[in-house]
Amino acid sequence: MPADRRVVLPMLLLSAVLLCARAASAGSPDPPAAAPAPAAAPEKTVYLTFDDGPSEITPTLLDVLKEHEAAATFFVCGNVTEFGNTVYNRILDEGHALGNHTFSHRYSTVYKSADAFEQNVARLDDLIHRFTGTRPRLLRFPAGSNNRITRGPDGKSITHDLVNRMAKQGYRHFDWNVDSVDHGANASDARAIARTVVEGVLKRDQAIVLMHDSYTHAATVEALPLILRELRSQGYVFKPLSETSYTVQFLKPQAAAAP
Ligand SMILES: [Zn+2]
Repeated sequence: MPADRRVVLPMLLLSAVLLCARAASAGSPDPPAAAPAPAAAPEKTVYLTFDDGPSEITPTLLDVLKEHEAAATFFVCGNVTEFGNTVYNRILDEGHALGNHTFSHRYSTVYKSADAFEQNVARLDDLIHRFTGTRPRLLRFPAGSNNRITRGPDGKSITHDLVNRMAKQGYRHFDWNVDSVDHGANASDARAIARTVVEGVLKRDQAIVLMHDSYTHAATVEALPLILRELRSQGYVFKPLSETSYTVQFLKPQAAAAP
């Protein structure tokens, strides 16, 4: 046996012994387990919602959301033009949620009766299906689910009946817990809209924010980047609504009474 092999062989054996010893120590009992980590705090989430589009400002709202990598929900009305087709599809293609806000939104038409409301929702549902191949199950009642715009023959508001009917058809409705007031006193003041939204959201871990998408809402477009930057810096994430997401319902559907 050459001299070098005589040296190498014992050294290989020694290495093997050391490796075995290390493996054995790795298998020894773990040190006492640390106290279990506290449950993770729920994610602070903002659901921005834009009602009444498609409009001239929808493409810009979508551009701003894309630039900030934020998702939102658009409760749209009927627009049979190629522009409407493009906007509905762009909303879905860019990861936002699309919801039904009735075809015409005209209170005198949609709230004329419960049947009229159903027909108006179905008309928009058919249009969106024709343009996008999907039938959104998210619904926002014009003026909210607790509006008292129309009373039935018995003098009571028809909204209880509507809320139950639409739930039975598989729709899930969404009201809001933060109103941007971009349709009221703040309508033309981007900073006031942003401040109202941020202050309202900061009081909550889950917020559904009411905003508007129409040509009169240039200030809403201007407020959007301010809202996105500030709330993100406060640890919020922006998500689209869904059939299983958080919701706010001023009026909740009631299960049918047992016979
Ligand atoms: Zn509306």
